[in-house]
Amino acid sequence: MSAIGFIGLGNMGGPMVTNLIEAGHSVAAFDLVPDAVARAVSAGASAADNAVAAAADAEVVITMLPAGAHVRSVFIDDDKVIAAVKPGTLLIDSSTIDVTTARDVIAVAADKGLDMIDAPVSGGIGGAAAGTLTFMCGGVDAAFKRAEPILMAMGKNIFHAGGPGRGQAAKVCNNLMLAIEMIAVSEGFLLAEKLDLDAQKLWDIVSTATSQCWAMTSYCPVPGPVPSSPANNDYAAGFTVAMMLKDLKLSQEAAASADANTPLGAHATQLYDSFASLGDNAELDFSAIIRQIRDS
Ligand code: NAD
Repeated sequence: MSAIGFIGLGNMGGPMVTNLIEAGHSVAAFDLVPDAVARAVSAGASAADNAVAAAADAEVVITMLPAGAHVRSVFIDDDKVIAAVKPGTLLIDSSTIDVTTARDVIAVAADKGLDMIDAPVSGGIGGAAAGTLTFMCGGVDAAFKRAEPILMAMGKNIFHAGGPGRGQAAKVCNNLMLAIEMIAVSEGFLLAEKLDLDAQKLWDIVSTATSQCWAMTSYCPVPGPVPSSPANNDYAAGFTVAMMLKDLKLSQEAAASADANTPLGAHATQLYDSFASLGDNAELDFSAIIRQIRDS
């Protein structure tokens, strides 16, 4: 079992810490929000006063932060965690961030002789709580092999996507496809409504036909066919519009820097952006994009 420093105890990081503790690891936990630290302590973690205090005595440091700027700030610019950790410490960043920052931070760690992987996740807060996350990892083989048993305490499927940044590349491609699929499913169900075709009937047919996909079979954007989907709960998140928009913007940055053509990704980014800019829409579940399509 390992001594783990965990930084970023939000919707995802909080339950991930609980699963690490239940697997027998010891966790020193830090977040800028004191209540988040208090919740981790009640799950069995020890409270750290700052990021360096969480990391300094750790064998493994895990971060679960909002975006690339926070990751760069914690590891390099402000907290300087890479400079503060002991030789041999393994670093795992599970935040969803841009590929460039992921590669930059891993390169700084490598300069100090430290193993580091990018390991973003899929599975949402339900998967974080259940310990069934999918981890998509980027990094050298030796770093991945060291990280795998730690990640098993928080996830079910652990993939090595390739070298540094490849985990973030897999994540951004996944969410680009998901965002477009949710719009496609919304358009189909809205067209069915206009054609006087019952939503349940459509779902029964297309969930076994060629258009079936997770956005329809597990997360249907109209109430009824999938009782657990956010559409049945007034689109309470779930995975927010703001987070999907963040990931779509990452996909567009990645596409621009790699000279990749993503015309539907570009259009999906515009639709989510315009929906997010109205009222409290940004905090709704991303499947609420059906409202934008219905109203436009
Ligand atoms: P969150 O906003 O709930 O949590 C982030 C936490 O980081 C906050 O508690 C915040 O206080 C803390 N933080 C920010 N800067 C910090 C710093 N400098 N030092 C210490 N703590 C700091 O976000 P979340 O939902 O837990 O998501 C975390 C990451 O996981 C994001 O990159 C997100 O895109 C990704 N993700 C989220 C989901 C989801 O369903 N929520 C699913 C997959 C991936």
